Amino acid sequence: MHKIDEQSDGPKSRINRHLIENFSAATSVIAGVIWPKLHTVTIAMCKHSTDIVDRDNAWHVVYPFCPHGGDIVVLVKQIDAGQLIAFCMHCGAAWHQPQHITEENDEYVICSHVAPNGIELPTPNDVAASPWADRVLDIVPYDRYFSIGEINQYLDRERTQLAAKEKKAI
Ligand SMILES: [Zn+2]
Repeated sequence: MHKIDEQSDGPKSRINRHLIENFSAATSVIAGVIWPKLHTVTIAMCKHSTDIVDRDNAWHVVYPFCPHGGDIVVLVKQIDAGQLIAFCMHCGAAWHQPQHITEENDEYVICSHVAPNGIELPTPNDVAASPWADRVLDIVPYDRYFSIGEINQYLDRERTQLAAKEKKAI
């Protein structure tokens, strides 16, 4: 059984803490990151967690881990376009459509590019009306993940850094 490093901070351990508290049986699989097993366990967890979480104030998880790292992928709403995209806070990647993030496919965009004025928390109605509706694997309480303010600050910082790099390149 893998042991989760509880010393490390950051998104992965934050979500792991949520999983440890709520679904201790799943933690060894989360740490092991074995796709088919993880997928099954994640679906089993959802049924449990959707019962106990306030859906109006929660993050909708649509992928158990980012293809570029170990963090979960959640739905965010682009303020400008009003569309829901899947987002990874760990690396800043985003996916427009469910078919863009699958076991075989990883067609990501940069969230700070596609959401120039930031993101907001989607409502359950937003999720239900989106192409992601049947891809929700889990619900995570709002305060167990990053806040909207934290995410938008991160996106702002990334925009500034990318702009500075582009300036240097010219
Ligand atoms: Zn990522």
